[in-house]
Amino acid sequence: MPSLKQCNLFINGREEKPSSENYFIRENPATEKDFAQIAESNKKDVDRAVSAAKISFGAWSKVPATERAKMLLKIADVLAKNQKQLALLNTLETGKPIRESSLVEIGGSIRTLEYYSGMHTQLNGETIPINENQMSMTIKEPVGVVAQIIPWNFPLLLAFWKIAPAIVAGCTIVLKPAELTSCTIYEIAKLCSKAGLPDGVLNIVPGKGEVAGQALVEHPDVDKVAFTGSTSVGKHVMKTASDSVKRVTLELGGKAPCIIFDDADLENAVEACLRGGFFNQGENCTAVTKLMLHKKIYKKFLDLYIKRVKKIKIGDPTKQDTEMGAVISKEHYENVLNYIAKGKSEGAKIATGGSRSRKFKKGYYINPTVLENVDPNATVACEEIFGPVVAVIPFSTEEQAVEIANNTEYGLAGGVWTQDINRALRVAKSIKAGYLWVNTYGGIVPQTPYGGFKQSGIGKELGKEGIENYLETKCINIYTGGSMPRWYKG
Ligand code: NAD
Repeated sequence: MPSLKQCNLFINGREEKPSSENYFIRENPATEKDFAQIAESNKKDVDRAVSAAKISFGAWSKVPATERAKMLLKIADVLAKNQKQLALLNTLETGKPIRESSLVEIGGSIRTLEYYSGMHTQLNGETIPINENQMSMTIKEPVGVVAQIIPWNFPLLLAFWKIAPAIVAGCTIVLKPAELTSCTIYEIAKLCSKAGLPDGVLNIVPGKGEVAGQALVEHPDVDKVAFTGSTSVGKHVMKTASDSVKRVTLELGGKAPCIIFDDADLENAVEACLRGGFFNQGENCTAVTKLMLHKKIYKKFLDLYIKRVKKIKIGDPTKQDTEMGAVISKEHYENVLNYIAKGKSEGAKIATGGSRSRKFKKGYYINPTVLENVDPNATVACEEIFGPVVAVIPFSTEEQAVEIANNTEYGLAGGVWTQDINRALRVAKSIKAGYLWVNTYGGIVPQTPYGGFKQSGIGKELGKEGIENYLETKCINIYTGGSMPRWYKG
């Protein structure tokens, strides 16, 4: 058997074996061949990582913010210099096309680091005049040791949405990657250390969520938890973190509607909804999964859309011209196929796709799938599928469209297509979700605050708001008058 890549722990600037000496095997989802062995961190390992982060916080939080900002640029440089090999590793563990690994995961991480390096100028408080004898000021302090828990769908980009603001704010980090995607971020942590990131600022503890993740969220020396993942685990994390009143931000599941009115630019809408639905194999929390078409353009749009969906080039994700790769794992592949079967049993018609790709004997390849005439209350219209499956729902009026769009416990993202600016704004404001696109879809840039409403999460990442997650505001009141007025007469 060829030797497997080994993913260990990274603590205090050093590679470490798990204290249990246990590893689990991760396969490449595009070939089903074993690819890496991943360390199973346990509570003892998490204790060591948190302790390293706590010790390094003392010094790191005092490093001038300008210097911390320079460190982000150095890390960006490391990513750029190693872009090719990191993208390949990321593709081997995720199954996503290499161009998405390179341009989105690594490219997006670089843009996030660059954006937050500029944020060192924004770590200021305020001065608040009270009266002649008193003034107040607020100062911003780093929150402390932060636990960052990452899902598998964008293992690098979503990690850097958390790492970049935490580092510039002066926090130190213990990061728990997803079980299925631990290798690339582990390699990156080693490269960051070589580039000069002080020991203990970024620690990595791979392993099982219910063991390593749980120990991290429970840990009394962790001050804040930044979690991205499913709504069910997010709820559990929030409950656990409440025991010691940790600061918590949650980026959770989604079920995004995209509403196409009859005056929309159909060619642009088709283009954006292709990306919206099938980018990253649809394993995307903001994926267009409820494609809502006005009855007047239903057929025309769908004809154009299906023609293009059929041309999406599915295949070996390591090839530059591949447009869609394999889904993340066997278990997830089966889940997605079950959803398609459920959609059919609940009355939807399969317009295209609906099965595994027959081009490959091995690998978790699912053909891009469009389910037509989906009932707004059907399972596939309400639950998160997280795969290459788009449910198409017709509508007649604006009111009906908004009602269908909001018919979900989620509220992460959505889209509106119309030439009528008043309608665009009215509908965007009526959708109960945190991130809306008008006449475009997809692409979240570091400058903009991103986060869910309802059961899609709490708090924002990115933008100016994203840095606040890693800062505490302290108010200092100063008495500048002469003798203090007496309250007690004696
Ligand atoms: P998941 O909830 O199963 O796992 C997420 C992370 O939590 C993993 O690292 C896992 O090991 C860890 N975890 C599991 N149990 C834990 C516990 N008891 N304590 C602490 N950590 C624990 O999610 P997933 O399957 O990796 O990712 C898919 C989900 O993530 C989807 O629901 C998707 O919508 C969501 N997601 C949301 C966003 C967003 O920005 N809102 C972005 C990407 C993915």
